[in-house]
Formats: sequence, structure tokens, C-alpha cells
Amino acid sequence: MTIGRPERTDLKGMTLPEMEAFFAAWGKEQYRARQVFRWIYRRYVDDFAAMSDLSKEFRALLSDSCRVSAPPAECIETSADGTEKYLFRLEDGEAVESVLIPDGDRRTLCVSSQVGCALACSFCATGAMGLRRDMTSAEIVHQVCYAARRLSGRGERLTNVVFMGMGEPLRNVTEVSRAIGILLSQHGLGLSGKRVTVSTAGIIPEMLAMAEKVPLSIAVSVNASRDEQRSLLMPVNRRYPLRELVAAMKRIPLQSGRKVTAEYVLLEGVNDSPEDARELARLFRGGRIKVNLIPYNPLEEAPYRAPPPEAVDRFREILLGAGIQAITRERKGADIRAACGQLRAASGGNRG
Ligand code: SAH
Repeated sequence: MTIGRPERTDLKGMTLPEMEAFFAAWGKEQYRARQVFRWIYRRYVDDFAAMSDLSKEFRALLSDSCRVSAPPAECIETSADGTEKYLFRLEDGEAVESVLIPDGDRRTLCVSSQVGCALACSFCATGAMGLRRDMTSAEIVHQVCYAARRLSGRGERLTNVVFMGMGEPLRNVTEVSRAIGILLSQHGLGLSGKRVTVSTAGIIPEMLAMAEKVPLSIAVSVNASRDEQRSLLMPVNRRYPLRELVAAMKRIPLQSGRKVTAEYVLLEGVNDSPEDARELARLFRGGRIKVNLIPYNPLEEAPYRAPPPEAVDRFREILLGAGIQAITRERKGADIRAACGQLRAASGGNRG
């Protein structure tokens, strides 16, 4: 235990209004918060001494009572296709992963929102470990700062963030919302809501609440065409069944020309039949929904296989034939275990 020196306050993860209130309590002007915020999120600086437009006294005060957390990326793997995967070691010894996916001019970072996940989807590596804890907004947003900084070092820019890493973002709404506030702030990461996607296993009330509050992109892991099938793959379906979920997807407020994404992980012999495709098309009829088909990324322990490419194409063509926009997500980073939760599982997980 340290005596005399209180724990320093972590400025990372505070939204701009929170930081303004924090400095206001010290009697500091509002623009001070904006300055510090810009150092952290636009220049990725976490050392107060380097914040050169702040007075010496203010820098000393900050160094004394605050900090900017930056969990180290302990393991970086680079795939032959340019995909990079980072394993972050958090302060309590837990580990989470992020994946950076280059695609043309896009640089998309897939971020984690929880250490583990309580939803126990049967095909998912993160589901197999259970929920260990929620991530803080500092930990969530740090993944983005780290990737953005790394890219800027190469003259590139991070363009998109997707909450498709470990965890269910809508089971950690408070911290995820704070992180999103920072991602969208013009003094923060400055991303547009179109370029930030929250992916959910289908927690209906939180999904609708979030979509109404912030203009984000929403993706829903549908993964099945019938309730019995979906409940087996995704136990959360017992609480929020498919029909209600799709009805809610159709109610999400959208800007013109935008659609809700339905993700569909294709598992051979489980949910990849032509009948599944036709049923899915019936469900989605009349909605502004586009489908992302994801060939399953095999895990050692799980009893599933990816369908052959012909089956994927046939599934997609049935959707297209029914007037439903559908694309097949190219498999990226398969050689570095880039599917949800795979790297942490391989690294031995917790070391705390
Ligand atoms: N909990 C959120 C976000 C994390 S999972 C959600 O469910 O959407 C992100 C996506 O990865 C989901 O669409 C999920 O179905 C998919 N996924 C999980 N494990 C996978 C695997 N082994 N292969 C392919 N996709 C997988």
C-alpha cells in the first residue's frame, strides 16, 4: 500500500465533458480539457511532459495527480495478407485482442469490449471462456489509440472501428458508450458514426436504445434462420428470439441510404442449406438489411466446419435472387488465428 500518495486519476477513457468537469473542479478553464484531450487522442501522447502547449505548472500538476494508461501490446502477429493482431496485457493481468484489417483504402480495427463473454455462443472462442470482466472505456479506447498511432507512423490513417472483437458490447453499455463518445468527438479520434459499427448478438432493448441515441452503424449476429437452430448456436436467442430480433432490426432508425448489417456465420450442415437462405430472405423482406456472410473460422475445440465455397456462393445467390443485398466476407488473417478470441486462447490467457 502506498501512503501519502493517492492513486493517480486515469485521464484515458474520460469523455471530453467528463474531463472538462474534472478540470473545472481544479478551477481550470474548459479549453484546458480540450488541449489535453487532443494530445491524448489526436497525437497519441501519454506523457504530460511532452504536452508542450501546457504551462509548466499545469504539466507538473497533471504528472502529480493524473496518468494516461496505455496497456502494452505484448504480442503482435502479422498475417501474409497484411492483417495485424495485437494482444494487450491489461493492468490486472487479463488479456484482450484487437485485429487491424487493411482493405483497399480502409483500415478497420476490430476491438474488444469485454474480457471474455457471458453469451456462450457455441462456435465462438470467446464464448468458451465465459465472462471474466467488463473492459473500462480506457481499455476499449486504448486499442484504437494504439492502432491509430501505429498507422500514423507509416503515414496511414485508421478509417473504421468495429466492435466485433471479444465480448458483447451491449452487455457493457456504459463503458462502450463512453468509448464511442471519444471515438466520435471531433477533438478525440474524430470518426464519423458511419465508420463505427457496434456488433451485437441481439440484445434488443440496448440495441434500440443505442441506435436512437447515437448515429452509429449497427450489425447483428443473426447466424440462423429458425429459432430452434439459433437457440442451439446462441443461447441468448431464448431471451430475444429471432422474429422479435428481426422486427427490432427493421425498427432501427437509419439515415437515408444506410442499412443494418446482418452477420451470418456459415457452418457446414448446420445453417448453410438453400432452405436456410430462403427462410432468411423471407425474414428480412421489407427491411433495410444487408447480409454479411462469414465462412466459419475453425476452432480446434468446436464441432463445426466451414462450408465449401460453392455452398457459400449458392447461399448468397439465393439471397440476391430474393432482392437481399449480400456479400461474402473474405477470410482475413486465418494464419494468425484472427477469429474472435483465438489469440488470447492460444497465449494462455490470464497471467494475473
Ligand atoms: N458479441 C458481438 C460481437 C463479437 S462477435 C456479436 O455477437 O456480434 C463478432 C462476430 O464474429 C459475430 O458475428 C460472430 O458471430 C462472429 N464469430 C464468432 N466466432 C466466429 C468464428 N469462429 N468464425 C467466424 N465468425 C465468428
